[in-house]
Amino acid sequence: MSNIEQTVEQKLQALWDLQTIHTQIDKIRQIRGELPIEVADLEDEVAGLETRIEKIRGELDDLEDSIVTRKNMISDAQAGIKKYEAQLNDVKNNREYEAITKEIEIQGLDIQVSEKKIREFEYEIRNKTENYEKTQAELEERKKDLAVKQEELDTITGETQKDEDVLVEKAKEAESHIEDRLLTAYTRLRGNAKNGLAVVTIDRDSCSGCHNQIPPQRQLDIRQRKKIIVCEHCGRILVDEAFAHAEEHVHA
Ligand SMILES: [Zn+2]
Repeated sequence: MSNIEQTVEQKLQALWDLQTIHTQIDKIRQIRGELPIEVADLEDEVAGLETRIEKIRGELDDLEDSIVTRKNMISDAQAGIKKYEAQLNDVKNNREYEAITKEIEIQGLDIQVSEKKIREFEYEIRNKTENYEKTQAELEERKKDLAVKQEELDTITGETQKDEDVLVEKAKEAESHIEDRLLTAYTRLRGNAKNGLAVVTIDRDSCSGCHNQIPPQRQLDIRQRKKIIVCEHCGRILVDEAFAHAEEHVHA
């Protein structure tokens, strides 16, 4: 901020103004509540399911390829058997006959192995297809949930976004009237406080941030507006009731 000298009262007023704007922004965000998180979670879930489906799809393709390979091996073996069977017609001796018969036997065993493999692959395909369909159904459900939540969020955001944008601008403007040291303290206090309150008023002799009693002398000091005074219990910056009343007056 610029180097204009501010009185303590002006500093307190600037802090109070900023707090008031931030409280209004907090209220708007509260209306949206958990929706942005819920939407983000659903988006993650949808992305996860899509990845899973893609992976299963790839595994199914591999299995189909393996079946094709095995079927080709069977065809080759069958062609081999035909060739050997033809050779059997012109065998010259017993040894040759046995050698060819042995080859036919080997090809026959290869076919059995491939047929067994194909049955295993088909079994796997059935399981994976079931899994694929289940995951696909789950994905459709999550997508529906996401669409509903997204629309809810869009509606609420649409209703409040303009107000929020205006308030964010106002907050920036208000911040420019606060010296860096105080703004840093304010931001830290606000960040630590569950209710987002860094500047609070006296309310029925108590700190309205933590509801602890404020000693009478301290209340007098606060009303003097000569010093920036923080709550002894919660560390929030305290202002007197008149600030809040002035605010109500402005909004009325
Ligand atoms: Zn307090």
